[in-house]
Amino acid sequence: MPSHVVIGGGITGLAACWYLAKAGHRPLLIEKEKRLGGVIRTDQVEGCLVEGGPDSFLAAKPAAMDLIRELGLESDVIGSNDHQRVTCIVKDGKLVPMPDGLMMMVPTQILPMVKSPLFSWGTKIKMGLEYFRGPVANPPERTVAQLVREHYGQEAVDYLAEPLLAGVYGGDPEELSADAVLEMFVSMEKKYGSLTKGTLAMRAERARQSPNGAAAGPLFRTLKGGMEQLTQAILCQLPDKMDRSQDEALAIRKSNFGYEIETRREKIYAGNVFVCCPATAASTLVRPIDEKLAELLSGVRYNSSVTLALGFDQADVEGKITGFGFLVPKVERKRMAACTYVKTKFDHRVPPAKAVLRCFLGKTAVEIPEADLIRDVLAELKDLIGLTALPVFTRVSRWHGAMAQYGLGHRARVAEIRQLAAAHQGLHLAGNAYDGIGIPDCIRGAKAAVAAL
Ligand SMILES: Cc1cc2nc3c(=O)[nH]c(=O)nc-3n(C[C@H](O)[C@H](O)[C@H](O)COP(=O)(O)OP(=O)(O)OC[C@H]3O[C@@H](n4cnc5c(N)ncnc54)[C@H](O)[C@@H]3O)c2cc1C
Repeated sequence: MPSHVVIGGGITGLAACWYLAKAGHRPLLIEKEKRLGGVIRTDQVEGCLVEGGPDSFLAAKPAAMDLIRELGLESDVIGSNDHQRVTCIVKDGKLVPMPDGLMMMVPTQILPMVKSPLFSWGTKIKMGLEYFRGPVANPPERTVAQLVREHYGQEAVDYLAEPLLAGVYGGDPEELSADAVLEMFVSMEKKYGSLTKGTLAMRAERARQSPNGAAAGPLFRTLKGGMEQLTQAILCQLPDKMDRSQDEALAIRKSNFGYEIETRREKIYAGNVFVCCPATAASTLVRPIDEKLAELLSGVRYNSSVTLALGFDQADVEGKITGFGFLVPKVERKRMAACTYVKTKFDHRVPPAKAVLRCFLGKTAVEIPEADLIRDVLAELKDLIGLTALPVFTRVSRWHGAMAQYGLGHRARVAEIRQLAAAHQGLHLAGNAYDGIGIPDCIRGAKAAVAAL
């Protein structure tokens, strides 16, 4: 009888196995798919490294780098080529570079904003006046759109907040909770009133902390072999320290041994269960032991998304591609939400003679046949950057219900989930449904769940 069972073999479940093994346990991992890694998937296509899911992680959150160091992969870490970082936003069908000095949707420099054709004069004036807002002691919970609108106006929602967050959550700023996804800005608002003032103060503080002006390093990091190098490294280093069952967990019940996990094939008994799958699946699993907990978990909504990688001969895209790529605001959008020029963003991805465009498509794309998706995206690329060549390869990855949406009330919901789960000794919940959907957040959550043992 295994004493520790982990359900779900994405990065959260694999990190949980890693930390359990480090603590001297031998976990049993139950994953329904043959492939491990969840949404992390890296393919080699015609000499190009193609990420089907995440392509990097935020360097500012340490959990991913900590795990990478433990795995001995540090020398394989590469950063985004930030010296070539130019991201454009589509406005009236044209690509407009994002003005310098923006931190997410917060402007911190006057001149680039004044010169940018991205915003009307009304918005520019509102952005300037925002600096004079006074602190707000206890602001009510608002959506991202409400917060940004209050500070910078509707154009900042349409042309900054929406496209920036669509890439991270595949979500709608009118629904996402600012407290849950823009916590830093909500704290700034309480202290400074103005988000611009708060961001400038934060930068000044960071500069004080690294007095020789040492740069913080690239914003995004990844591994030379792609994100799947991380999940593969965990698997390679654990073969004799964990067991694996390719099976689907159906229900968790209390038993004399702690928990009985019913799967499609068998019943497994364990003292500790780490539920590391999306909250929708977690809800079904825990329903037999706690109806209320199951209800709360089922209330975490998930969005679907699609990535479409298009490989071209470099000669066909020459002169059409600069910077990291572009974002397509929903108000302008047809099919694409964003497009990354892979070669510019990261080295070790695309050979000199090739180019890869990685396009993100929202939830409506998930059920559309592949040929139609490719046709629509190629038509949009023709309109936006004048690209008329046919791709030499295409690769579609569909992610059904993979991106958790932190709506209004999310933090209170998670606090209640944690409280209810704590009443069931040996039951642990981790994953992207709770305290952040990024890879470092998932790893941090898994590590904390193991540490709580
Ligand atoms: C397209 C896309 C791009 C992204 N880009 C980035 C990025 O660049 N940077 C970043 O930091 N984050 C990114 N994210 C978010 C991040 O990748 C995910 O939040 C994170 O990888 C989720 O990991 P997880 O292990 O919690 O869940 P998942 O990867 O979803 O894994 C859950 C696993 O549980 C299994 N499972 C579910 N139910 C059961 C069951 N009943 N029994 C057994 N197994 C089950 C599933 O098969 C799956 O393998 C992206 C996400 C997507 C979808």
